[in-house]
Formats: sequence, structure tokens, C-alpha cells
Amino acid sequence: MFERRLKVVLTIPILGGLILIARLYRLQIVDGPQYEKRAEQSLIAPKRFLPPLRGSILDRHGKVLVSDEPTFDLSAHYGALSEDEDFLKQYAREIRRQSRHYQRMSRSDAEAEALLRVQTLYDRLAELTEASADEYFARRDAIVESVEFLRDYIWQARAGEGIEQKKEDMRLREEDRFHTLIRDLDRTFQARIEIELGDLSFFRIMPAVRRVWQTEDRSLAHMLGRIGQVSKERLEEDPRKTDWLARYRAGDLVGVSGVEYLAEDVLRGTRGYEEKNLDGDIIESVASIDGAPVRLTIDSELQQRVAEILKVAIDTESGRTGASCVILDVSTREVLAMVSVPGFDQDTFRKHYDHLRDEARTRPLLFRAIAEEYQPGSIVKPVALLAGLKHGVVTANTTYDCDGSYIDHSKHWHCWTHWKHLPGHGPMAATGAIQHSCNLYFYDLGKHVNARRLSAFYDDFIRGPGHDTSTVVRSTGLLEERDGIIPTIDWIETHRERGYTWADGCNYAIGQGEMQITPLQAANMYATLANGFYRDPTIVMGDQRERRPKPIAGISPDQWQLARRGLYLCVNEEHGTAHKKATLDNLVICGKTGSAQCVARPVKTKYVFNVEQEVPVESAQADGLTRTETVRLETVAPTLERARELLELPHDAKPDEWRVVERWPPIPEGRTTPLPHAWFAGYAPYKKPRVAMALIIEHGGSGGQVAAPIGRQVFSAILDSTHDYLGVGTPSERIAKGNDAADD
Ligand SMILES: [Zn+2]
Repeated sequence: MFERRLKVVLTIPILGGLILIARLYRLQIVDGPQYEKRAEQSLIAPKRFLPPLRGSILDRHGKVLVSDEPTFDLSAHYGALSEDEDFLKQYAREIRRQSRHYQRMSRSDAEAEALLRVQTLYDRLAELTEASADEYFARRDAIVESVEFLRDYIWQARAGEGIEQKKEDMRLREEDRFHTLIRDLDRTFQARIEIELGDLSFFRIMPAVRRVWQTEDRSLAHMLGRIGQVSKERLEEDPRKTDWLARYRAGDLVGVSGVEYLAEDVLRGTRGYEEKNLDGDIIESVASIDGAPVRLTIDSELQQRVAEILKVAIDTESGRTGASCVILDVSTREVLAMVSVPGFDQDTFRKHYDHLRDEARTRPLLFRAIAEEYQPGSIVKPVALLAGLKHGVVTANTTYDCDGSYIDHSKHWHCWTHWKHLPGHGPMAATGAIQHSCNLYFYDLGKHVNARRLSAFYDDFIRGPGHDTSTVVRSTGLLEERDGIIPTIDWIETHRERGYTWADGCNYAIGQGEMQITPLQAANMYATLANGFYRDPTIVMGDQRERRPKPIAGISPDQWQLARRGLYLCVNEEHGTAHKKATLDNLVICGKTGSAQCVARPVKTKYVFNVEQEVPVESAQADGLTRTETVRLETVAPTLERARELLELPHDAKPDEWRVVERWPPIPEGRTTPLPHAWFAGYAPYKKPRVAMALIIEHGGSGGQVAAPIGRQVFSAILDSTHDYLGVGTPSERIAKGNDAADD
């Protein structure tokens, strides 16, 4: 336990924080004459900050997912760590004052005693804890090295401003401070250390806090996010920087991702302060103010249940690289579950970081629900139908006769029946075209609506009418959220350097071409289909942002009903692509299946770097001379970061060439691409929709065969919840009523 924590301290980048302090270097210099007084004060009149507890993160029912617990850090004075001469003299004087035994000692003997105490600290700590003295030495050296780096930086900066001073004469504030040797000290060790070493004034056990994960559900790791050292930018932009107790200080831990970042202003607290006199009595104190809790809209039990379902689904076939599922309340757009698998374990994140980063097949660090974009495929067809109805291109009765091929003898442009060697669908009208997922009906619709009008409609439907086009639409506010690709005319001109063609309209109507959306956008699209309003989803209870429902303009109630009837038929009528796959006895589900075309991902790449290196000149006369030579370095690695590590190159080294040598998953026989991603998206109940969802199984293959049955399992898990999200009663209420919840 202890070892793990010590290593965590060791891996925190000390340099990063120090560079930050260095930038504020004018504040770092201590005037020479003041130094001695300060050193004395810091030893005998402890003055310390009291850290606040960071707010907890709870699920929608109040279950604590993450919280802070008070703990202690062990810190040592920099003078002791660096064995500074002035400090040791000062400490020797203190030793002689402290006890009669030492009063008779000569000054030099007392100084030798001071040095001995400082030098033996690490071995004594090692005896009292489970860490080795070497680990303490490593930590001590890292601290001293970083302060010396700081001294060098400041000295150069001052020299640049014409201030001349010997580097050794410059006193830094860091030299008056206590630096953390061990974070989060185990209580058993704390007691032992206090008893054994309590008389050594150059180290202290200081109050601190630690973030504790109260849930083992790995699928929550992406969403909850992490805390990390405050950056220079965050220090500068801190809204509370004028409050000397509340403001961030270099080295503070702040939310850097997920909810920890999103809710930082609520979660962070205000530090307190305490000053004691020489007898140890408190003469001044201000209590710390703890951060406030944040309650999420997530039902952590449902989240965990869905994560288990998806885990089983991807473990079934080795080529399935990951999966995601998002569940929303249709009316409030509160996210009930937002699952991304595989996930990772927060407690061992730092230790396993390299492995997690380099796991290129399954990418466990990727928050698929909001940060990965997929082709929507056929799940977008009901939205395309609404665009056709809105623009008068089709009516409820307009039919298209599907014979299986839109363009005969072409490589593409067929209905999906063509690839399965089935006859065409015959005459298709609006609802039937959705039920059967007929490509030809939608090719024709897309061609006549045209790409410009279709993508403009998608943009309103998926990102919200009148959204800000100048920035990424982060509907939940999460930093990781991406907003997909909707190939509006601006996008096509910028990224393809061309205008639209008729074929773009056909492709967009069946969710192919450039278009990509996230699982969250897919779920929200189905919530909008269910109630006719766009609304930003949220993951925070009582979200104070402006989130009014916005109507999708130009669609009549009858037209909405056509799209919804199509989704009903798709699941509940014979020949629907999800028929018998996504039905439950006591819930009427509406939905649509889809397949997203994709390519295999690179998992091993050969990187080549041409690096300038100094090499010795090989000649008897040229002893010690070097010349610059360009050396070709190459390696095969799963990520560029790994390649740089293997070749010991700087973290920003750019490769001169690279070539993919292995992709994943393998391409099945008879195909030219890997299996497509399988989608299922829908809502329930049919007549009074309460819950919408979307799920995707990467490289799952058929939406109908693979994703729809998992959709059924997800709805079944929602039905089994003790909370009545579907408005059909809780399981016990349904049993009392005779289990009759159908509403077709
Ligand atoms: Zn067809």
C-alpha cells in the first residue's frame, strides 16, 4: 500500500510545477538579510495552510462515487533536504537551546550532530515504513534538482534584465519551504513516525487530502475524470485569484478531465490558515471551507449493469474492439447512463498509463460515448425522412419501387438486399422504407432533397437549431466531447475543396459519406424523434445552463407520426430489420438498426526519425573532437509516444517517415474491409416515450443480428431498475398489476 503511494508521489512531474513558479520569478527572491530570520521562524513558529476537502461526486440517487478524505503528508524543510550550511548552523543553535545535554556541546559538535540527524532521516524513515531509503533519496534528489533548476532559470532571467548577482547568493522562497516527501501517509506509519522522530523540527506531518474512488465500476472512469497539478494557464485565469486563501497555488490539484474539470468551480473549496506561537498555542486561525458536492444525472447501478452487458458483447468476438451506450430521459435529456467499454481503473491509472495508452486495439482511455465519432449508417434514415417530408420531396404515400439496384452494374448504389442475394423490396413508402431500411427509397429521397438541405436539417436536428457554428458544440459541457462531422457546405468546401454532387445527397440520406456522430448525439437524435424537440443533454442535476427545448421547425404532427410509426414497425412487425430482436413482452420499443462502414485501425507503425548527433572523430590526432552527423533511427511501436520512448527522443520529436505495419481487426475472408460497427438506437414506450438510447458495438457486423438483441437487454435492464424511468411502474408495481405495461 505504502509503496504504491510513494511511487505516485515520485511520478508527479516536479519540473512542470517548478517552471510555473519560475515564470513568477520576481516573487521568488528573498532579500539576503531577511533570510536568517525567516529560516528561524520557519523552524520554530509553524504557520500552515489547512486544506479544504474537495466536494464529492454523487450519482442521481445520492450514492457517493468519488470523495475526499483527510490525510497527512510528510514534509521536510528544504535546508535539511539540501544539507544547506546556513540551515545546519541554525539547526545546531536550536539543538543546543533544546536540551541541557547539548548546551555543553561545542558549536562544531552541535553542527556535526545537526548534520547527522539530517542525514540519518532517510534510513530512520525506511525503518519505520515499508519504503526503502533509496526511494526517499530519489525523492530528495528530485526536489533539490528542481529547486536548483529554478535557481538557474531565475538567475539567467535576472541576468537578462541586467541584475548582477552570484548564483549562490540568491535566496529563493522555495528554500524556506517544507517539501513533500510522502503524500497520503498511512495512519500506522504516521503514529510510529510521530513517536520516533517527533523531536526533529525540520520535518513535519502536515494535514492534506486525498481523492478516494468509492466505486469499482471502470465504465465511470472516463466520465468522472481526474485531478492533476494546476497549470500556468489555470493559475492565470483563476476567477478567484484575488482571494489569497481561495486562489490556486502552484502544485495544487485541480480537475483536469471529466466531471472533475466540468464542475471544478463547485467542487473546489477554500483553504484555511493557522498560526501558532512558540508554546504551540494557536494565535490565529481561519477554518477551511470544503467544496460542495455535485450530483450527477447518472444512475450508477444502471450504468454498471449496461457496462456488464457491453463487456460480454465485446468479449464474444476478438475483433470487437469496444462498445458504447448512452441512455437519456426524453423530456429532461438527463443522461441516465453513458457507458464506454473498455474502461480503466482510476486507482492504478498512473501506474498503468503507458500500457493503457499503447493498447491500440481497444483504446481503453477513449471515452467512446462522447469522444469517438462513427458513421451513423441507417439509424439516420428517420431524420432523412423528416427532411424529405419538410421539403415536400415525399409525402406519406410517395412510393419508390425497389428492384435492388439504384444504378445497375455499378459497384455501389444497391439496396442492402442486393448483397444478400435477395430480391428488391418492391414498392416502398415512408413507413415501410424505415421498417425495411430500404436504401433505394432513401437514395432517391436524398437526391431530391439534395445534400445542402439535408445536411442543414441534420445540423439542426443533431446539434440543435441555431447553435453556435464558430465552436465545437459541447452539449454536456464535458471537455472531451466532440460534435461529429455533419458535412455542411462550409465543411465540404473547407475539407474537400469542392461543392456538393447529387451523390452526396444520396449518401447522407443513408448515413454514409463523410457524416459522423457520437453515441451521445445518436441517443439525443432519438430523444428528439420521440418528442419533437431538440434539447441539450446534461449529466449534472439542476444544470443551470440555458437548455430550453427547441422545436424542429416545419414538421407537422402527422409527419412526426410517420417517422415514429416506421420505427415502431421496424421492431414490432414482420420484416422489420429489428423484428424479434428488440422486442420485450411488457414494453413496446421503437428503434432502428444500422451498420457503420469503417477501416481497420493501425496498431503497429514503423517510425523513422533522422536525428542530428555528435559523434567522436575517429583519428589518433583528433582526440576528443566530435562532428555532427545525421543518424537514422527507426522502431516499430503502437503509438508515436512509445516510439519516442524506445528511441529515447524528446517528447515533441517528429518522425520523418512512418508506415503502418499492422492493423486491427483482421479483415474476414471475402471482404475488403473489417466488419462494420453495429448500431441500435431507439426509444420506449411507443406512445408515451420516456427513455431514448443508442448503442454501438465496434466491428459487431449486422445491426439487426448483433446490436438489436443488445438493445433489448439494455431496455430490459432499464425495466428491471427499481426506479420507474419508463413510466410503466417499478418491477414490484408491475407484478402487483399483473405485468401489463404494453401500450401499442
Ligand atoms: Zn430496398
